[in-house]
Amino acid sequence: MKTVWEKYSPTELKEVEKFCKNYREFLTLTKTEREFVREAVKLAEKEGFVELGKKKGKLKAGDRIYTVNREKNLCLFVIGEEPLTNGLNILGAHIDSPRLDLKQKPLYEKDGLALLDTHYYGGIKKYQWVARPMALHGVVCKKDGSVVNIEIGEKEDDPVVGISDLLIHLASDQMKKTADVVVTGEALNVLVGSIPSKNEKEEPVKKAILKLLEKKYKMKEEDFLSAEIEVVPAGKARDYGLDSSMILGYGHDDRVCAYTSLRAILAMNKPKRTSCCILVDKEEIGSVGATGMHSKWFEMMVTKLLERQGETSLVALNDTFSNSMMLSSDVSNAFDPNYPEVCDPKNSAYFGCGIVFNKFTGARGKSGSNDANPEYFAKIRNVMEKEKVQFQTCELGAVDVGGGGTIAYILAQLNMEVIDAGIAVQNMHAPYEVVSKGDVYEGYRAYKAFLKKM
Ligand code: MN
Ligand code: MN
Repeated sequence: MKTVWEKYSPTELKEVEKFCKNYREFLTLTKTEREFVREAVKLAEKEGFVELGKKKGKLKAGDRIYTVNREKNLCLFVIGEEPLTNGLNILGAHIDSPRLDLKQKPLYEKDGLALLDTHYYGGIKKYQWVARPMALHGVVCKKDGSVVNIEIGEKEDDPVVGISDLLIHLASDQMKKTADVVVTGEALNVLVGSIPSKNEKEEPVKKAILKLLEKKYKMKEEDFLSAEIEVVPAGKARDYGLDSSMILGYGHDDRVCAYTSLRAILAMNKPKRTSCCILVDKEEIGSVGATGMHSKWFEMMVTKLLERQGETSLVALNDTFSNSMMLSSDVSNAFDPNYPEVCDPKNSAYFGCGIVFNKFTGARGKSGSNDANPEYFAKIRNVMEKEKVQFQTCELGAVDVGGGGTIAYILAQLNMEVIDAGIAVQNMHAPYEVVSKGDVYEGYRAYKAFLKKM
């Protein structure tokens, strides 16, 4: 298959570069679901989107609306010319990424060092998260209702933190262990301090860190109980490759699909069918909780929209969902010449070959997948070809090598057409993942075509 690089004109190449520079900068700013929602709302408001509660009266074609659930879950709509009951064109993606979360009682002192205890979030190879600069991002929620935002390790003169690794000189026993236990979950302890407080006898290093936190954030040790602090790789997303054709960054899974979907709905203007973009939390741990895809929040929001068009029956809600179409976007595995044995080459995704469609995902005989209807994918193929969007299809690895799931099957339960789509990445779930700029741009074009033409 030819790559997009061979087909782009010089003008298009400039567009790709501009779009990807914006994405790269956005990715650097958004390392948590909360940060993604915050920055996405800024972009949306700039493009004329109004918070649902602030929009008065009946909704009419061309209205641009967003709504936020608990700072971690965002939904945007551009109202179409057709009634909502004719169905929505929905783009969905998740904005949480694998990381290390602080435990509720994280801070302790051991052998003269202060450390923070973590519990990892999502599927990670634990040995990849040691001996690298890490940053702390999150919120501390206090009893008086105030919320302190934490971001340490990103500014040029900020300190970073990190997890130690065993020196190779003394690792002969460790090197014989299998990779899943070479670094254990309980060993993922973040080193945060080493200066003892002068007047303290007990745990003087820990006390010194507490004093520092009190001074800078007015927080006490017990405030960790109601904090949500994520330990993530520190630093910027970067251009990757001598030809700068790729982007290296933390959390492409799945912010690369979330960002391109967001930009696509921001570009919509009075579509025929109502455009929708839903960005959810908690996918990496099973789409659970009030802000995950299993939450009823999305249905509640669509019910509210219908009410604003004078439709209050359950029948109207059911019709809306039954007539809806969705691209459930999540990253795919980019074929890696270092590890060809885990893939079927003809059913793999390749860098620079465009947006990926997966009829199914899952594991062990498609278990847990949505398995899209071929009638639906035929329609999508037709639209992509007409709009000259380059696409490829793939499976996540060869049969029975492994597998993975997405949010696709959850919305399909509302009886809508859903197919998995997305952008191919290398190093999925590693601290730094890689995408091709051509695929990022083609993803954006595919999402626009879907919203406009389906
Ligand atoms: Mn994902
Ligand atoms: Mn993932």
